[in-house]
Amino acid sequence: MNSKIVRETFLEYYEKNYHKRVKSSSLVPQDDSTLLFTNAGMVQFKNVFLGNEKREYKRACSSQKCVRAGGKHNDLENVGYTARHHTFFEMLGNFSFGDYFKKEAIHYAWDLVTDVYGLPKEKLWITIFKEDDEAFDIWHKQEGIDTSRIIRMGEKDNFWSMGDTGPCGPCSEIHIDQGKDVGCKRPECSIECDCDRFLEIWNLVFMQFNRSTDGKLTPLPKPSIDTGMGLERVSAILESVYSNFDTDLFVPIINDICNYFSVEYKHNESADVSLRVIADHLRAMDFLISDGVLPDKEGRGYVLRKIIRRAMRYGAKLGTKDPFLYKLVDSVNRSLGDIYPEIIQNEIFVKNTIKQEEEQFLTTLEEGLALFDKLVDKADNILDGQKAFKLYDTYGFPIDLTLDIAKEQNIFVDLEGFNKHLEMQRQRSKSTLSIGVDLKDTLGLALKDLKQTEFVGYDKFEEQGSLL
Ligand code: ATP
Ligand code: MG
Ligand code: MG
Ligand code: MG
Repeated sequence: MNSKIVRETFLEYYEKNYHKRVKSSSLVPQDDSTLLFTNAGMVQFKNVFLGNEKREYKRACSSQKCVRAGGKHNDLENVGYTARHHTFFEMLGNFSFGDYFKKEAIHYAWDLVTDVYGLPKEKLWITIFKEDDEAFDIWHKQEGIDTSRIIRMGEKDNFWSMGDTGPCGPCSEIHIDQGKDVGCKRPECSIECDCDRFLEIWNLVFMQFNRSTDGKLTPLPKPSIDTGMGLERVSAILESVYSNFDTDLFVPIINDICNYFSVEYKHNESADVSLRVIADHLRAMDFLISDGVLPDKEGRGYVLRKIIRRAMRYGAKLGTKDPFLYKLVDSVNRSLGDIYPEIIQNEIFVKNTIKQEEEQFLTTLEEGLALFDKLVDKADNILDGQKAFKLYDTYGFPIDLTLDIAKEQNIFVDLEGFNKHLEMQRQRSKSTLSIGVDLKDTLGLALKDLKQTEFVGYDKFEEQGSLL
């Protein structure tokens, strides 16, 4: 089964079960300043779950464009290093708005995974929220799963929230054991391990609450269902490969990057990380720009800028000194342009935007990289805060980029010092921008500073003569 069939099979299955097939919404959530990017299929239905909006249908299914590169769900630094995380990915999902609940949601998911996709039952594991006896009984009694395969987990993994506020609820997930040759390879590796062996494929969220800004949970008008399954992950399993990057969604893109750089994939781990990061980030930048995000000093645009600059750094590692990302946009468009025509429609604009951003950062990237080595205190392997700030302020290195380089060389970056200098600069300029580093979430952005951007199409921008 290739990814096109996997996607279509999912949507057809739910259509047959009376779900309305709904198109993916934009990566920029509409009228929702609490969220950086669309990070799950439920985002476009948030108001329906909350009871503030009615639709003609009570059941829906979709293949949703998602980005997880900032805010509560942030996988930016995982990308390249795990087999399963992307910044941009597609989430397959089915939704019930006060219609069916746990029993049906579990039954559909199990039926699709085992009977339709044909995954081997003996390799599948289930997690549930630790207090959810009802879900336990449904998996065991209704679907016949052995109790030893149903694992109770805590809030971190099995209580899903869209963001700090909004719809949320206990969840139950399907994982597949890919065998002891995959992942960390420790004999004691279990479903609780964070490695790639027990791969989480599908999350079924039993939407029951709305979380308000003070953290209080209020019951939703009606219990609802929201599920999410990563297309890249399930495609990997159905294509019998262990990494999303070995699926038909990535192989052609990685091949094109290899051709550009005259390197081969799977010959050298460090080069492989670069190839995976570039392939992933290319998809993210193409889709984000197509959905109206432009590189900027703050908010969503700053996340896009970080993604482009990170990809450029990995390009530099592969030896290029020239703009190259914009030349590889065609590769992503060949891969997904038939499903998401907006990337084809905006192709020229996307390429120009990326090229401009590459040209702007190339010289400083080169100088900053050369300087990095000199700035590090070799005796203690520390980059002090003022120096990290210099890389940021003078050379345009997002702090995550500095952290990324430092991680490779086991160098400690003094984030507290960095923040202090950032704050001092802010005071000096009395700037209201917030691109500081929250020590708890070094990649996060202050959401309160996000400008609400409503994308009106590039034609509009062009008419107004304000492209950037
Ligand atoms: P993980 O624990 O692997 O980081 P998650 O628990 O954060 O995943 P959920 O929020 O439950 O993920 O999202 C639902 C599904 O979306 C996951 O089960 C997975 O299949 C897919 N998914 C989540 N994050 C990513 C990602 N960064 N890249 C690709 N697929 C993802
Ligand atoms: Mg995650
Ligand atoms: Mg998880
Ligand atoms: Mg999950």
